[in-house]
Order: sequence, then C-alpha cells, then structure tokens
Amino acid sequence: MYKTKAYAAASATSPLTGTTIPRRDPTYRDVQIDILFCGICHSDLHAVRNEWSEFLPTTYPIVPGHEIVGRVSKVGSAVTKFKPGDLAAVGCLVDSDGTCPQCKAGLEQFCPNLILTFNSPDKHLGGVTYGGYSASIVVDEHFVLRVPANLNPAGAAPLLCAGITTYSPMRHWGITKGMKVGVVGLGGLGHMAVKFAHALGAHVVAFTTSPRKKDDARRLGADEFVVSRNADEMKQHAGSFDFILDAVAAEHDINAYLNLLGRDGNLTLVGAPAKPLGVSAFALIMARRSLSGSNIGGIAETQEMLDFCGKHNLTADVEVIPIQKVNEAYERLLKADVKYRFSIDMASLKSE
Ligand SMILES: [Zn+2]
Ligand SMILES: [Zn+2]
Repeated sequence: MYKTKAYAAASATSPLTGTTIPRRDPTYRDVQIDILFCGICHSDLHAVRNEWSEFLPTTYPIVPGHEIVGRVSKVGSAVTKFKPGDLAAVGCLVDSDGTCPQCKAGLEQFCPNLILTFNSPDKHLGGVTYGGYSASIVVDEHFVLRVPANLNPAGAAPLLCAGITTYSPMRHWGITKGMKVGVVGLGGLGHMAVKFAHALGAHVVAFTTSPRKKDDARRLGADEFVVSRNADEMKQHAGSFDFILDAVAAEHDINAYLNLLGRDGNLTLVGAPAKPLGVSAFALIMARRSLSGSNIGGIAETQEMLDFCGKHNLTADVEVIPIQKVNEAYERLLKADVKYRFSIDMASLKSE
C-alpha cells in the first residue's frame, strides 16, 4: 500500500478538499498510472452530494472522477498491454466478475458484480474505491485503455464517460453514412454525440433550447440546427429521423422527439431525468418506432471508441482547470456554464 494525494468530500454538504488516500501496490495484473487529467462528469457531482442515495448511496469520504488519462508508472509481472511511460486511460469501471454472460459478451457495464471507479466496494483494501481526482490510481489491466498518441490528453479524458456514452448507442443502432441523426441537448454528452455522428457520416441535426448555440453546433459538426421551442421548425422534421440521441437530464416532452422519427426509427436516452417520462403509445405504434436507453459501454468498445477518436482526431472541447477550482466548477456545471467539459489538470495537485 502507498499514499497518494487526492481531493475528497467528507459529507454531502462539504466541499472537496485536499487529502491523502491509500492505493494498493500493483499486483501481478495491475497497472499503476500517474494521472495527468480527469474530466468532471455530472455523476461526480450527484455522488458527492449523495443525490442518487436511493440506488447508489455515497460512502464518505468520496473521491470522484471517472474520466482519467495518465501515464503508466508501474506494471505487474503478468501485464502485457502496457509498459511504463505509455499513455493510458481509465473510465467508469475498474473491475467485474469476468464470468457472467454480460462480461463474456464484452458488456462489463451490465455485469451484476461490476465495480465502479469510485464509491464501489474495494476488494483489495476494504472500504470503497477512490476515483480520478487524485495523483495516481492502480487498476487491473483489463480495465485500462490505450490512448492514441495524437490525442490531446486533457481533451481525451472526457471520452472515457461522455465519449463512450454517446458512441456506444450509435454503434449499437448502426449509424452510418447517409442516415439522419438528431442530438437533443448540447452539453458534455451532446457535443460529443454531434462529433461522433458527423464522423460516422450521418446528416446531423442539433436540437437545443437556445439559439445562442447555433454557431457552436455547426462548428462541432451539425448540418442543421433546430430550436426545440419553435414548433414550426420542429414540424419541418416530422417523421424524418433514423435515430435521435437524447442527452437531456431535465424534464422534457419526449413525444415531441419520438414524432420526428421515421419508420423503425429509434430514440435512445442517455440523460436520466429524475421523474418518469410520459410516453405516448401512438408516437411509438404509428411507425414501429422504439425508445431505448444506453449506459456507457464495455471495455472492448471503449477501446474501439478511443481508436476511432485517434483516427478522426476527435477529443472533447474542454476548459482545463486546476483542482483548486473544482468546487467552483461544480457550481458552474449546475448552470451549464462550460464549453463543454471541465478537465482537471492534475499537476495542480502537487502544490497541495
Ligand atoms: Zn460520467
Ligand atoms: Zn460479469
């Protein structure tokens, strides 16, 4: 066991502050990583404030962070994919049972025994796992990803959650050249969805509530832009989409978007509104439309996504901050005051 610097919250109402946490010495199959950047995901904030207490209560102190990019510092004797000095990444998962049908299918994210990067039971040290707001982390090789060398590490960090969350459903629903794809909500997830849909060759339409985002949407790769409050603009697209990715976490009218799908069109939810959505059966029945959800992606697909990003030189648009600004960043996140993801420069932790 060794100690490493980190930022932790002591309770649901405490700010994140500097501390030290234990990490295990790497076992034969582990990779030790010096963390360079960690993205700030909205789930970090939910967990820190125990807002998901019903299904995922938070154990304190909590060290959040699951969008991790760093440099390998040590590897165990059986590790074959990494050597010291390699650029590596860790996302939302650090372990699973490896034996259930989900794991065997490469869909570790659905494993009943999956271990999340933070706030999950830590079988090595006891207590709970600690995430990426820290100077280093030790992870089983199977859950460590390779990062293409051409990608900027600060912008690559958010790919590990915001990236895979939007890439996976597009692959599952076979998004390809010539398809018409809508993206609802141009935030951390949505801006990545626009980039991926564009890179996959789709005709991309961005939906937002704010006309201010129009230029940005085009810059990110959208072919068209629709202000969702404008009923006329919405009507022009009725029945025309192959696929819509809905990344909105607030309450909204899902039927308005279902009606924009063509025959056999699919709308996938990746945002998670707290209240149940009201779904009109007619909106589904009339054109054999479907509504589904998606949650991050498996390890193999996460690697595929990173390789795709390397090939297309895709990263998230980030605002890099020192760890000392993390509490301020959380307040700004609540106001959607970021384009489009915060990425913490972990070098700033050295001065703590
Ligand atoms: Zn996340
Ligand atoms: Zn499993």
